Amino acid sequence: MKEEISLEELEIRSWKKRLVWSWSFTIPIVFLMYFSKLTGMMLFEEKTMIILQLILAFPVIFIFGSQTIKAGFRGFYTFYFSMDSLIALGTVIAYLTGILQFVFDIQDYSGISAMIMSIFITGKYIESVARGKAGKEIKKLIELGAKNARVLRSNKEIEIPISEVKIDDVMIIKPGEKIPTDGIVIKGESSVNESMITGESLPVDKKKGSNVIGATINQYGILYVKATKIGQDTFLAHVIDLVEQAQSSKVPIQKLADKITSIFVPVILILSILTFFGWYLFFDELTKGIGAAISVLVIACPCALGLATPIALTVSSGIGAKNGILIRKGEAIQTMKEIKFVVFDKTGTITKGEPEVREIYSLIDEKKLMLITASLENLSEHPIAKSIVKKANLKKYLEVKNFKIVSGKGVGGSISNKKIFIGNEKLMKENEISLKSIQAKIDDFENKGYTTMIVSENKKIIGIIGVADAIKEDSVRAIKILNKKGYKTIMITGDNERTARAIASQVGITMVISNVLPEDKSKKVKELQKKGKVAFVGDGINDAPALKNANVGIAIGTGTDIAIEAGDIILTNGSLMGVVKAVNLSKATFSKIKQNLFWAFAYNVFAIPLAVMGILHPVVAEIAMASSSITVVANANLLRRKKI
Ligand code: AMP
Repeated sequence: MKEEISLEELEIRSWKKRLVWSWSFTIPIVFLMYFSKLTGMMLFEEKTMIILQLILAFPVIFIFGSQTIKAGFRGFYTFYFSMDSLIALGTVIAYLTGILQFVFDIQDYSGISAMIMSIFITGKYIESVARGKAGKEIKKLIELGAKNARVLRSNKEIEIPISEVKIDDVMIIKPGEKIPTDGIVIKGESSVNESMITGESLPVDKKKGSNVIGATINQYGILYVKATKIGQDTFLAHVIDLVEQAQSSKVPIQKLADKITSIFVPVILILSILTFFGWYLFFDELTKGIGAAISVLVIACPCALGLATPIALTVSSGIGAKNGILIRKGEAIQTMKEIKFVVFDKTGTITKGEPEVREIYSLIDEKKLMLITASLENLSEHPIAKSIVKKANLKKYLEVKNFKIVSGKGVGGSISNKKIFIGNEKLMKENEISLKSIQAKIDDFENKGYTTMIVSENKKIIGIIGVADAIKEDSVRAIKILNKKGYKTIMITGDNERTARAIASQVGITMVISNVLPEDKSKKVKELQKKGKVAFVGDGINDAPALKNANVGIAIGTGTDIAIEAGDIILTNGSLMGVVKAVNLSKATFSKIKQNLFWAFAYNVFAIPLAVMGILHPVVAEIAMASSSITVVANANLLRRKKI
């Protein structure tokens, strides 16, 4: 198979080639320039020396540096100056002094021009290598995809390239093998290592009906998986897409840097002209003026400013992806540090989202209660409904007429002409059903943290069912850490106050917003925003408006069950520790961005005056320029050392 070369790799190779060639011509120049200075012996006559330097420097500037020169000079007739404009002008002027010195009495800088260009190219090469490193996590993600798949076609197992897998193909995955693409298990049992995509280190059990993610690794059993998504629709493809999007997204602080960059180049051009005339007119120093003007041109390149944010985002989104954190909007990184409230949705976020019936209190025969209840709930898709149907475990249901769902409250319908309601207190009150006789029992259930379903038949209570949703293993730890960091953690839920408080206290949350209808969650977020910035953590399926309205929306999911379009940050595994990690990563990234911008600015602030004063030799200026960009990239790479 032909080796595939990435664009990045091509860029690195191209800079490397230019680097080798340009130094092959520049080293002899350096030798010529310094041999006589060091030994006092003249190899050639001065004019010959200059001609030799001009000949040697020519290919360095106009062949190996041609790309930079062309791009740079394009700015002078489009008036859209790029960073290359400065270096192009600097080197060409330096080169021209070699020719002009035959006519005027000035120093020859032609040898220097080759040195500047070679150092510039070296800097670019090092920078391209460091950039490649910055993107290594993403590269790994891209390489993660399976190459082949074993599928059943006309009852025969055949191995085909991944691109030929079609939706509904049955794939056979043996232990240790990679799952070729997203699908649903139709036969077999195993556990699957999903860490490469979700950051979750424990293998996840899979059986018939489980969703599996392409590129994850099957552990011990044989799995038969029906392909449900292929190509650009797969989870992995979405993850890669998101990471790439994040890299080009804007962090507000960068706007300042962009603005400065856009006025920087013309300002520097003018400054270098002023520098030249300043030296020439006030001190009568033509040669020094040219040298200082060249120094100003080459030192001032704002490359480091332009690199500061994107490179930090590249590293950070890569580290995030590895840990199951997808940063969709770079802005979130900056906003995160201003967050005061972290609001958690309860169901599916703090809890597992798989409620189970824990206790039944029946005022009629319990079997009959469950038959009536399950017959209605069998028509509802609500997780609570499913838990009741599961508990009843029936083969046949009663016929239900006039079934209706009352959003956020419960369900209703008629069975054998008797009116049945199942739901919370609000639903009962709405239908004028008295709870007096059973209130003590309801309170007892709610204090235990159960969501309590009240069942009424013709306006009479016939029983209550206590459902509870287990708390996720990491929720307590994560919330404790966030509390300790000084965030005000809040739980928001449709449950009533008492149930909500019981659960909140189990996880260490003191502020509870209960009795909230799904559509009102975003309103509550807005109210909180009057007191401070809000991060909302929810599953992204019913919480999309709240996620959108919050200052930072963190969508939490498990495996493929993620609303990837909702939220500024997406956590691919369900653990709330992801929120802690997202907070840490955002903070670390933002402080890296600030550091980078600071260094990029500081360096220009110090170096430009030195260049104007003629203290900075053009070669030293170019070395400093190149190192500033390299420093910024290397500093961003250091983010990897940070434990999140
Ligand atoms: P939700 O906001 O959809 O989670 O629902 C809020 C509350 O409405 C739940 O805590 C239940 O008390 C009640 N509820 C919703 N759907 C049902 C249902 N199918 N059966 C019984 N109660 C329900």
